[in-house]
Amino acid sequence: MKLLKNRILKDGKSYEGGILKVDNFINHQMDPILMKSIGVEFVRRFGNLPINKIITIEASGIAPAIMLGYLLELPVVFVKKAIPKTMDNMLSTTVYSFTKDRNYTVSVSGDFLTSDDKVVFIDDFLANGNAAMGIYELVKQSGAELYGMGFIIEKCFQEGGRKLREMGIRVESLARIKELGDNKILFEE
Ligand code: 5GP
Repeated sequence: MKLLKNRILKDGKSYEGGILKVDNFINHQMDPILMKSIGVEFVRRFGNLPINKIITIEASGIAPAIMLGYLLELPVVFVKKAIPKTMDNMLSTTVYSFTKDRNYTVSVSGDFLTSDDKVVFIDDFLANGNAAMGIYELVKQSGAELYGMGFIIEKCFQEGGRKLREMGIRVESLARIKELGDNKILFEE
């Protein structure tokens, strides 16, 4: 996706430890026009699947997920990172955060993710795949069917993409980064 790659080259900042900062257009300030193009590209990749729901995780997955949900006219469920006191029929699991270096609990109501659901998961980044594995676990607990996972940016030098693909999960990443260095961002061909 050329538009996205050009924006990453223009506004992305590469940090030590393999972190790419994109808070100018994805993670803090958001560009809805780019986000719409991201939604259109996800439609191109997932639109022919018999899904009835999009699943994502707060916070940065919500924007691309809602664009896809809007375009496909499907509901979007976001998995929560705080433990809500009032959630009915709660499903939970633990996820390790790469950027924050700590474990946290993620949860979703079994009222909104059920064995009748056929879902695609959307998130901003795929790094080591911990968030995605947490989602995989919640989908399994609910009995829903997972048709694929879509990421705006995949950092291919981390192991998440390989792990998920080896599990037989269809992974679609709109920008695939091979290497991040001092002021250097290299994409996979
Ligand atoms: P994973 O669970 O795949 O290791 O990491 C995925 C989550 O960590 C993403 O949802 C994202 O919020 C965050 N993350 C991982 N790597 C980066 C990065 O390089 N930049 C930013 N901004 N977030 C990242």
